[in-house]
Amino acid sequence: MKIFYSDVHKSHSFGLPKLRPADYDAQFEVPQRVDSILSCLNTTDWAEIVPPHDFGMEPILQIHTTRYLDYLKHAYEDWKVYSDEENMAFIPYTPGFNPKATTFDNIPDQDGFFMTDMYVPVNKYTYISAITSAQCALSAAQVSAARKCPAFAISRPPGHHSGPEICGGFCYLNNAPIAAQWLSRLGKVAILDIDYHAGNGTQAIFYERSDVLTISLHADPAWEYPSYAGYAHETGSGPGKGFHHNFPLPHQTGDDLYQQILDRALEFVDKFSPDFLIVSAGFDTYTGDPLGDFRVTRNGFSSFGKKISDLHLPTALVLEGGYKIDELGENVVAFLQPFVS
Ligand SMILES: [Zn+2]
Repeated sequence: MKIFYSDVHKSHSFGLPKLRPADYDAQFEVPQRVDSILSCLNTTDWAEIVPPHDFGMEPILQIHTTRYLDYLKHAYEDWKVYSDEENMAFIPYTPGFNPKATTFDNIPDQDGFFMTDMYVPVNKYTYISAITSAQCALSAAQVSAARKCPAFAISRPPGHHSGPEICGGFCYLNNAPIAAQWLSRLGKVAILDIDYHAGNGTQAIFYERSDVLTISLHADPAWEYPSYAGYAHETGSGPGKGFHHNFPLPHQTGDDLYQQILDRALEFVDKFSPDFLIVSAGFDTYTGDPLGDFRVTRNGFSSFGKKISDLHLPTALVLEGGYKIDELGENVVAFLQPFVS
């Protein structure tokens, strides 16, 4: 299996405890997550780890606005006016998304507009890391479509909380939709999001479209991040009505319930009859994940992988969350294994 990876992501890393309380959640979205995945993939005889291709900015501009990309590109340098500290993790002090705002006189105001929360610190390398992460997803999509086979993108930072011009929840550019949009020129695409958290960014991006089916299984937003999206009654609007499905799940969901709901989700995929599938593959549903409370096991990941691979669709698997670092790599391998068996 082709696995797209670049070590550019390593510099998107922060000395956060200096700036925030020691339990600040962003310390979990760290480069060591990828180390865990790579070391386990390297023990297999099927993982072919290769650098991503460069698709340029055009596919990214199909999903994110120019003003948002400009903001992300210059945020670090703009913030430097306020501090000389190297590798400072900048966070907004005017959080609160205001869709009606039209002027952006200074960088703190921009933060308040473009960031939905305080889990998206920006350093000098955040922008290039996010761009490279998206290129990994695009590369996996291209290979899966051309060869009619699965491919995996080790995308870091993750993407599914990022909308057309918002970042939040560790996500700056939405990798899976960028890849889906690129594929949608060639046929119908379905995105299946199995991260612990609702894929609010993905939902927003395709909410009014019928050519890209979006489905998300996740912890109920009534009590879990991102709170304001991911509810069952949100099913798309306009031409997209009926082409988005949320499956909010209860506290401590384990393998059996998850499998049952995944089966229902896959029925929707089957009925849609897509030409391509993209999986937003999060592993924070794992039992003991520091940011989740589900009880999914490694065997669970293996059987979910089997069920999804049984669809026999060209499938691009794109990394999202997963923060139990010492076991993340083994969980990823368990999930991918059925795709190569
Ligand atoms: Zn997550």
